[in-house]
Amino acid sequence: KYLDANSGLWNACAGFDHPGLIEVAQKQYAKFAGYHSLFGRLPEETLELSDKIIEVSPFDDGRVFFCNSGSEANDTMIKMLWMLNARKGNPQKRKIITRINGYHGVTLGAASMTGKPYNEEFQLPLDGFIHADCPHYWKFGKEDETEDDFSKRMANNLENLILKEGAETIAGFFAEPVMGAGGVIPPSNGYFDLIQPILKKYNIPFIADEVICGFGRTGNLWGSQTYNIQPDILIASKCITSGFFPLGAVILGEKMTQEMMEASYKAEEFFHGFTAGGHPVGCALALEAIDIIINEKMIENVRNLEPIFMGGLKKFEELEFIGEARGIGLMGALEMVHDKKTKTPFDGSISIGERIANQCIENGLICRPLGPSIVLCPPFITTEDEMGIIFETLDKMLRKVFDEVKSLG
Ligand code: PMP
Repeated sequence: KYLDANSGLWNACAGFDHPGLIEVAQKQYAKFAGYHSLFGRLPEETLELSDKIIEVSPFDDGRVFFCNSGSEANDTMIKMLWMLNARKGNPQKRKIITRINGYHGVTLGAASMTGKPYNEEFQLPLDGFIHADCPHYWKFGKEDETEDDFSKRMANNLENLILKEGAETIAGFFAEPVMGAGGVIPPSNGYFDLIQPILKKYNIPFIADEVICGFGRTGNLWGSQTYNIQPDILIASKCITSGFFPLGAVILGEKMTQEMMEASYKAEEFFHGFTAGGHPVGCALALEAIDIIINEKMIENVRNLEPIFMGGLKKFEELEFIGEARGIGLMGALEMVHDKKTKTPFDGSISIGERIANQCIENGLICRPLGPSIVLCPPFITTEDEMGIIFETLDKMLRKVFDEVKSLG
């Protein structure tokens, strides 16, 4: 028996056996088991879901494009930007800006957007994918620099990067409201308030990659709401079906919809589509999952649990090797350091995160090692008692592993 404090891979927000979701899948398979949505013959669930997504999105109007994963949704968005800029007579407007430590997926575009060193293994990123600074104050703030000054520096650097590359060559800026797979990194104070006017000034669309943050993780339906982001486009996946079906969505706001419609009329169509995109079972499940998240008080539960969750994590900062406890809503990380003062990480050979995660799993708790950190993102249905179990186990295992590594010298 395990308590999965990672909700699968950030996605099983309503648990693994929600009866409503199981029933919807069974009924939908019996009703209409599968059909593509490429040539205008759409299952009604697909249409219903796109209306529902626009209704709950921050946009007054818009359009949704369905695919099977977050990676595909990001690659789809890149192709949309490339096509619509070319059709508008700006074929040079192709570069994509993302951020160091940002995670956007594994397909060629999405991996090129991901700001992690492991993609060098594949000789990625492709040309034209540019990585801006990571707004992680604890790690990248200079001595004597306040957090507000750090955010200003991040924004100035972004503006300089845009000018250096040439604003007219940049198709879009993709960012997660909170970086997830890069180690749960919430933005520094005021970061998004400072960078949004810069992107507007240079006519660069803001694409919020809400694959993790979307549908409640940060305590609001959208991470963009939590950080006062006014995106032009949203990318969603994961909790959209509570992990019950592979489904990704590109959600275009009003302006982008208009531009994309014009471009595709000129080109006769948008030459892009996935056989299983908009699958009726996935769409029926997403309709149910969204309903559950909104109407079964999931977001309220995230908000109610947040002080316990974040309070519990912060308390670990008292421990000798915890450098930073960070997070928001029900996503958090503990970053381990060998020396707190200098923030020196442990030697990689010690595999500190894995040691802790391995101990936890032996004691019934699933949490994920991510570089020098461990990551927690419990399901939205977690109870206070279960939260107690998470922290009791973690407390014991952290102390045990820290004693162990101390004895290593
Ligand atoms: N974007 C973000 C923010 C993600 O966290 C992930 C997956 N962890 C993806 C994109 C890629 O999604 P998928 O694994 O479904 O391709």
